[in-house]
Amino acid sequence: MSSTCACGKSITSKGNRIIRKGLPKKKGGIGLHTTGITRREFKRNAQKIRIQRADGSVESVKVCMRCLKAGKYTKAT
Ligand SMILES: [Zn+2]
Repeated sequence: MSSTCACGKSITSKGNRIIRKGLPKKKGGIGLHTTGITRREFKRNAQKIRIQRADGSVESVKVCMRCLKAGKYTKAT
C-alpha cells in the first residue's frame, strides 16, 4: 500500500542500488566495475504527529520530516 505525506507527495520513491567491485582509479586501481543493479525504494522519514492548522484546529496526520523541517507544519503543543 502506498502512503502519502500530508503535503500530498508519496512517501516512497524508487531508484537503483548499484553494486560495484574493484579499486577506483584515483586510488591506484584499474577502475570500478558494475556487477549488479537492483531496484530499491527510498523512503521518507514519515511520522504520525499532531499538527496545528492555521485556523487553530489540531489534527493528527502523517507528515514527512522534510516538510516539518521546512516549516510547512506547526507541531501542536
Ligand atoms: Zn512531506
